[in-house]
Amino acid sequence: VPHLQIKNLRAKIEDKEIIKGLNLEIKGGEVHAIMGPNGTGKSTLASTLMGHPKYEVTDGEVILNGEDVLEMAVDERARAGLFLAMQYPSEISGVTNTDFLRSAINARRGEGNEISLMKFIRELDKKMGALEMDEAFAHRYLNEGFSGGEKKRNEILQMMMLEPAICILDEIDSGLDIDALKVVANGVNAMRSADRGFLIITHYQRLLNYVKPDFVHVMMQGRIVKSGGPELAERLEAEGYDWIKEELGIVD
Ligand code: ADP
Ligand code: MG
Ligand code: MG
Repeated sequence: VPHLQIKNLRAKIEDKEIIKGLNLEIKGGEVHAIMGPNGTGKSTLASTLMGHPKYEVTDGEVILNGEDVLEMAVDERARAGLFLAMQYPSEISGVTNTDFLRSAINARRGEGNEISLMKFIRELDKKMGALEMDEAFAHRYLNEGFSGGEKKRNEILQMMMLEPAICILDEIDSGLDIDALKVVANGVNAMRSADRGFLIITHYQRLLNYVKPDFVHVMMQGRIVKSGGPELAERLEAEGYDWIKEELGIVD
């Protein structure tokens, strides 16, 4: 059962501190949601956990199953089971979706344990079907010319194919109409298991109607300032963030 511990994490970009002492613990079977105003460091947290070279960790610890994540290279983090569905997935020309997925899966499985082509195709078919994705997507270049919603579905397809231990979803709901949102939510729910933990970053409670979180956290100014259950997301939707700022004496 995976166990991710983030302890007093501090990270900066271009000498500006963005993550300012963040604590969070995610175990297998749990779905955590992080909500917070724009610019508060949510995507920075996600990128920092994945080891994006732009972000420099200045203090704190990130531990996955007892192993120091901060010591791992980006590909080692993926192999250890960390996965990020990005807010703004990049387009890669010349690499088809299928090529990308197959090499990502094999990188995760390791040398000598590569997935067979037959099994890969079977799995891909099944999962694209579940996400109601057109077969043509398999052969198109990664995210090139995909609409916002298609990119988000494609991120979830990657997650379903890679079967990560810790799934970080950064605004997977943005740009989705209600039908696409339900398809994506069904994909996430199908992946929920005791062997997997989720960190769902979102601005809107809407997604959380379909993917019920166990914990909801509010992130402001680079740290988690309040935690609760699903009712916290409902209150944020209804009342915004001002009451939390008042309660905690946060000035921005
Ligand atoms: P959120 O996801 O909560 O909206 P971000 O993590 O995207 O917030 O951004 C947090 C802060 O970090 C913002 O002030 C943003 O301007 C800054 N920031 C994020 N990425 C970069 C970058 N690549 N270069 C400079 N500043 C950045
Ligand atoms: Mg944002
Ligand atoms: Mg963001």
